[in-house]
Amino acid sequence: MIIGNWKMHKTPMEAKAFIEELISHDVEAYLAVPYPSLLLAADCAKNSKISIGAQNLSEHASGAYTGEVSGSMIRSCGARFVLVGHSERRFIYGETDEVVNAKVKRALAEELTPVLCVGESDAQRHAGKTVDVIRSQVEKGMEDLDPKHLVIAYEPVWAIGTGHTATPEMAQEVHALIRGLVGSSTPILYGGSVKGSNAKELLLQPDIDGALVGGASLKVNDFLSIIQGS
Ligand code: PEP
Repeated sequence: MIIGNWKMHKTPMEAKAFIEELISHDVEAYLAVPYPSLLLAADCAKNSKISIGAQNLSEHASGAYTGEVSGSMIRSCGARFVLVGHSERRFIYGETDEVVNAKVKRALAEELTPVLCVGESDAQRHAGKTVDVIRSQVEKGMEDLDPKHLVIAYEPVWAIGTGHTATPEMAQEVHALIRGLVGSSTPILYGGSVKGSNAKELLLQPDIDGALVGGASLKVNDFLSIIQGS
């Protein structure tokens, strides 16, 4: 499972051109696109091996929440999955584990597969807190839920957008911890500066089931090199 996270990049027309080119290569992939592109992207991806998702959703079903987007709106655009608790949401927008858990529940209520993102900061890793942080984020994020309905993405914050990827061994160590918490039927993806040159080694690890890719998902050739090498 290779998911591209476009973050705040690409207009709907740019999204359309990208998806059409990707489809011409007949590959299977997932793309988390900005809200304004959801409808067009899902329409372009219909009857292909590309699945479209969103990068966030509201924890509320509907109501007076100016600027928010509900899970049912996302689903009605044709999206199948949604990222929840990306570190940029946690750190920039202050999403707590409780909010993340409410969002995971909203996603499931709308038949969207939640991709629950977890990861320790540089300071937490250096303070020897990685295991505690990851255990707590996973347990709180999926509280009251059956993990087999979720996808987990382990993304060390210090590796996102920095070019500093975790070594395959470092990533596997944390993935094994998460595996112990979620069991064998939950896909666990690695994210953090994944690119064509390091994807294969990471994906060969026994508990790494796929990748969540930011920067390298913005150009078709870069993204293809990860998908085709996986
Ligand atoms: C991400 O934003 O989820 C991510 C992993 O970004 P990058 O690949 O650019 O580090």
